[in-house]
Amino acid sequence: MPLRLDTSVQYLKGVGPHRAENFARLGIHTVEDLVYHIPHRYLDATTVTPIARADVGNEVTLIGRVISTGILPTRRRLQIFRAVIRDSSGLIECAWPGQTFLDRTIKEGQLLLASGPIKYYHGRQIVPREQIVLANADEEADQPGQGMVLSVYPATEGLSHRQIRRLIGDHLDEMVSLVDDVALPYIPAALGLPGLRDALSTVHRPRTVAEAERGRRRLAYDELFDMQLVVARARYLAKRATKGMQHELKKDLTTKLKHALPFELTGGQRRVIREITADMTSPERMHRLLMGDVGSGKTVVALFAMLLAVENDSQAVFMAPTELLSEQHSRTLRELLAPLEIVPELLIGRLSPSEKTAVRDRIASGASRIIVGTHALFQEKTAFHRLGLVVIDEQHRFGVEQRAALIEKGEVPDVLLLSATPIPRTLAMTLYGDLDISALREKPAGRRDVKTTVRSSRSRSAIYQFVREQCGAGRQAYVVYPVIDESEKVDLKAATTMAERLRHDLSPLEVGLVHGRMKAEERDTTMRAFRDGKIHVLVATTVIEVGIDVANATVMLIEHPERFGLAQLHQLRGRIGRGGEESYCILLADAGARERLRLFAQSSDGFRIAEMDLQERGMGQLAGARQSGGMVVRFTDFSKDDDLIVASRKSALSLIEEDPVLSQKRHVELRKRLERRYERGMELFRVG
Ligand code: ADP
Ligand code: MG
Repeated sequence: MPLRLDTSVQYLKGVGPHRAENFARLGIHTVEDLVYHIPHRYLDATTVTPIARADVGNEVTLIGRVISTGILPTRRRLQIFRAVIRDSSGLIECAWPGQTFLDRTIKEGQLLLASGPIKYYHGRQIVPREQIVLANADEEADQPGQGMVLSVYPATEGLSHRQIRRLIGDHLDEMVSLVDDVALPYIPAALGLPGLRDALSTVHRPRTVAEAERGRRRLAYDELFDMQLVVARARYLAKRATKGMQHELKKDLTTKLKHALPFELTGGQRRVIREITADMTSPERMHRLLMGDVGSGKTVVALFAMLLAVENDSQAVFMAPTELLSEQHSRTLRELLAPLEIVPELLIGRLSPSEKTAVRDRIASGASRIIVGTHALFQEKTAFHRLGLVVIDEQHRFGVEQRAALIEKGEVPDVLLLSATPIPRTLAMTLYGDLDISALREKPAGRRDVKTTVRSSRSRSAIYQFVREQCGAGRQAYVVYPVIDESEKVDLKAATTMAERLRHDLSPLEVGLVHGRMKAEERDTTMRAFRDGKIHVLVATTVIEVGIDVANATVMLIEHPERFGLAQLHQLRGRIGRGGEESYCILLADAGARERLRLFAQSSDGFRIAEMDLQERGMGQLAGARQSGGMVVRFTDFSKDDDLIVASRKSALSLIEEDPVLSQKRHVELRKRLERRYERGMELFRVG
C-alpha cells in the first residue's frame, strides 16, 4: 500500500502497534503528524560548551557521560537528585532540587545533555532546566560535531528522541514527497520563504541552524495563513454577511453625559469614542475590540457607545463574566447615569424567579434601555425590544468561534468587546483578527501607579508589619498564591496553609481564602465579605484576576512571582491602586528571578509588559494563543514573526474577499487542509 499523509504511523516500517501508542501520546497519529513533528532544538558544535569552560553565572549546554548518580538529602528536607557528567575536558555535577524521580531515567553510563545556569555550591554545578538522554550506556551516540547539526525532538516515555530522529530520518524523503504545497501561491515573494517540501526537509535535517530557521518560518507562515483564513472568514461573517444597524449620531444623551462627567475625557478616550462612533453610524456592523489596562477608562467609553444606541431608541447590554462583576458594573453605570435619569437594569441569576420575569418583561417591552448581566444569562432566551449594541467585558477567554457563535444569535446589534489584557499588535491580529482593534494606552490624569517592589523572604516579617499597618489604617490587602493548575492538590494545600498561617501571624485581622476549586457561590460570598470590609486580608489564587474591584485594597503581596508570566503579574497588580490611596505591590522572590521582576516593577504600561512577556516566553507558550479556539500555534514565534503575521493576514483577507467560502475549484486543496487542521474553525465556512 502506498504511503499517504493520512496513513496511520503504525504502518510505517519500524513502528507497529505498540510504538504507535507511544506516538499517540505525542499527538502523532498519521504520517502527516509525524512529518510536522519538528525538532524543538538544534545542537551544533557552537552551541555546546566544553565542561571545563562552563563558568559560574553563565547559561550553557553541556554534553557528557554520566559517571555517577545519587540522591542527596539537604538540611531543609529538600531532596536533590544529582549526577556527575564528564567530557574530554573535565567533569561537573548536575543538581536537580526536588526531582528525585529522575533516578528512574538518568543512569550511569548514559550520554547526557544538560542546559541551564552554572552555579557555585561546594564547587561548580549546573542546575539543568532541560536534560536529554542522547544515548544509553554502551551506545554510540550522534553528537554534534564540526559542521553537523543535531536535531533534538520532543520525546515521551517509551519513545526517545533518538528513536524519533532515526525513524523520521528513514522516511523523511518519502513523507516529504507526499506534501502538497497549497499555500505557495499566497506567499509574497519578498518574504523569501522556501517551498514547503524544502522547508520540511531542512527543518528535520538542516546543514546549519540558520537553514532550519528558514524552514521553520515557512511552516509558521502556513500555520498563520490557515489561522488567518478562519479569522478572515469570521470577520467576513461578522461585518458583511449581515447588514448592521446604522445608528445616527444625535448628540443628545452622549453630550449630556460629557457635561455630567466629573472629569475631562483623555485624548485617547476621545479618539476611541470617535472610532466607535464611526463604526456605529456606518451601515456595516461594528465588531470592535477595545484593549486597555485596568483603570484606563474603558467603561466610560463603553457608556458613550451605549448611549449612542439608546438615543437611537435601541437597547444596549453590558455583559460581564461573573455576577459580582455585573453588580459592580451596574453600580458604576448607575452613578454615571444618574444625572441623565437613566437607571440600568441588572439581570443576574441571584434574582428570584418573579424578579427575573419582571426584568425580562421590562426588557421585552423596551422599558429597560441599558441592561447589565452575565454572559450566561444572555445566552438563555432573553427577548429584546430592539437590541442595538452588545458590550462584552473581559472576553479574552473566548476564541474566534465562540465570538462568531455569539453574534450569530438573533438580531444584528453592534458588538464592542472590552479587554483589560493588552497584547501586542501583531498578536492581536492573530487572536482577534476578526475584530477591529482600538487601544487605550494612557491612563486618566491623577491615577497613581502602583508602587511595585521586589523583596526576598528575609523581609517577610517587615512586610507583615506593613500589612498590619495598612489594615490598621482601614485598608485591605491581597496575598496571592500561585496555583497554576487548580487541580494541583499540592498547590492548593500550600494556599490553604498560607491562609491559616496568616490568620495566626496577622491576628486579629480577618483573613479569607478564595481559590478556583471553590463553588462559585462560596467564592462570591467571601469576595463580597472582602468588598464589604468584613475581611481584611484576602488570600487568593489567580481567580481574583478577573474577579473584583475593591478600591479600598492598597496592598498586594505576591508569593512566588517567578511562577507567573509578566502579563499575568500585571493583571494581578491591576486589582489594587483603584482608589485615591497610594498602593503597593510586593513581589516576594528568590534571588534568581529578581532581574526580570525588577524590569516589571519599573513599568506600569500593560502594552509594554505584554511585549516583554512575549519576548520572554516566545514560541507557543502564550496562554491566549493556545486558548484561541481549536487553533494551536506550533511553529510561530511571536517574538520574531511579525512580518509573517502581517503578510499572511493580508493574503487571507483578500482570498476570503474573493472567495468567501473557498468554494472555487482552485481552492479545494486549501480548504481540505483547513478542514484537517481546524475542524472547529471550519464550522464558520459552513454557515454561509
Ligand atoms: P476600566 O474600565 O478601563 O478599568 P474605568 O472606566 O472603570 O476603567 O475607569 C477607571 C476609573 O477612572 C473610574 O473611576 C473612572 O470614573 C475614572 N476615569 C475614567 N476616565 C477618566 C478621565 N478621563 N479622567 C479621570 N478619571 C477617569
Ligand atoms: Mg453599524
